[in-house]
Amino acid sequence: MTQITATVDFEREGKQIGWLRVPDSVTRSAYGTIPIPIAVIRNGPGPQLMLSAGNHGDEYEGQVVLTRLIQRLQPEQIRGGLIILPALNLPAVLAATRVSPLDDGNLNRVFPGDPNGGPTWKIADYIENVLLPKVGVVADFHGGGASLDYRPHVSTHFGADASAEHKQRSLDIVRSMGVPHVMVFERRNKVVGLPDAAIRQGVISIGGEFGGMGSLARTGVQLVEQAVDRLLASLGIMGERPADQPEPRTLHVFGPAAYVYAPEPGLFESATELGDRVQIGDLCGHVLFPENPAREPIPVCFEGAGEVVCKRHPARVQAGDCVAHLAAPFIGTKP
Ligand SMILES: [Zn+2]
Repeated sequence: MTQITATVDFEREGKQIGWLRVPDSVTRSAYGTIPIPIAVIRNGPGPQLMLSAGNHGDEYEGQVVLTRLIQRLQPEQIRGGLIILPALNLPAVLAATRVSPLDDGNLNRVFPGDPNGGPTWKIADYIENVLLPKVGVVADFHGGGASLDYRPHVSTHFGADASAEHKQRSLDIVRSMGVPHVMVFERRNKVVGLPDAAIRQGVISIGGEFGGMGSLARTGVQLVEQAVDRLLASLGIMGERPADQPEPRTLHVFGPAAYVYAPEPGLFESATELGDRVQIGDLCGHVLFPENPAREPIPVCFEGAGEVVCKRHPARVQAGDCVAHLAAPFIGTKP
């Protein structure tokens, strides 16, 4: 059983802004709690949606858009219910880090969590076992983080054994969000992310990466704003679906060969830009050794074919750092 208590009533009509109190008994504060911000907005029967950001603390577009959404939305504008969490892993959000400074927990890698574990594990358990069973759709907004730069995309995730109807509905929703690039993830062996928790709970999972480099770009914020508005319209919660819906390109990350890793520590000089199309064996970049100028740079090549959708941001690399990854057109769901 969870030890987290909520100051909001999930069944009450209207708008409430409150906290999830995560117990955190430490020397500085024996009966201390971590107050995770949460808003609940309800207006009668209808679709139920959870919106979240700050799963990783150094990804900002969703944090901004959901904070504004909480301020601007009034219950009479919507139909159904919204649960909005703009700073899901609050300790990481406040520290501007990917993982929590309290327990080193990466929230998107610890599901299904543990009600008696560290704060990050407690939050994951609460999301999976208390929040997700209350909704039909969850959208968790990411932004690359300090170490990566993404070409913005919105994504959906479903289990390989999901029903054809669930897959089609997930695709229809994610393709209605007005983001030019859509990524589809058919999860086979992963179990530890928020999308996997959603899959276990039968909830439609929407995600996406809208920037990176630990920065906050206006274009990324606008894209998330538009995506949230269209998601609300698409689900029938608020607003009309725009008639001029652009047709997005749908891609997927096709497996381990989509990823490129640094072979040695050094400086990585990329040979590509986001959006470049590459073939197997094409040059991804070089690792250089300014500390030993007589040493030749090491070429690093792509092992797959596709479009460069993500690049590492900091130039200094360790062996094993991911320096880029690819995606390829998504043909359709496999039987
Ligand atoms: Zn993230």
